[in-house]
Amino acid sequence: FLPHLVASMEEVEQTYIMIKPDGVQRGLVGEIISKFERKGFKLTGLKLFQCPKELAEEHYKDLQSKPFFPKLIDYITSGPVVCMGWEGVGVVASARKLIGATNPLNAEPGTIRGDLAVQTGRNVVHGSDSPDNGKHEIALWFKEDELCAWAAVQEPWLME
Ligand code: UDP
Ligand code: MG
Repeated sequence: FLPHLVASMEEVEQTYIMIKPDGVQRGLVGEIISKFERKGFKLTGLKLFQCPKELAEEHYKDLQSKPFFPKLIDYITSGPVVCMGWEGVGVVASARKLIGATNPLNAEPGTIRGDLAVQTGRNVVHGSDSPDNGKHEIALWFKEDELCAWAAVQEPWLME
């Protein structure tokens, strides 16, 4: 049968998900990507990347007055990260739920941070906190030719 257009363009959101250096070092990349794939979201960009200090500072600029900011920048630049763009209806809030609370001690079992992390300063993964920030962060971390718009054949089986 013919795949139909299931979601209006306004419903479809983009979020920037990043596996932080501890997640890469601990060999959690596949497990984390699987969570988003299996949920039914669509990957639009993916790269392993050594983040320069300036980009880490720009990404976290809203937190620059916080006492933990220098340590946060050291952490994010301490090794390669995995940068991802994910697309879908409700993907921003849904990804935040999959990721769990900022402090892993408060993150529910079943979430990435709840299952795989202990401390806020080593909480394995980042996810955008709003649809606007999702778009903004994807544009910050990816060049245009690193992103792919593609049709997922599973879509009619995920969305009615
Ligand atoms: N962070 C930290 N100490 C804190 C709060 C935050 O080291 O007390 C770090 C932590 O890595 C967190 C990131 O700063 O993921 C961004 O903080 P935010 O409040 O935006 O949390 P998130 O959106 O990542 O859950
Ligand atoms: Mg945040």
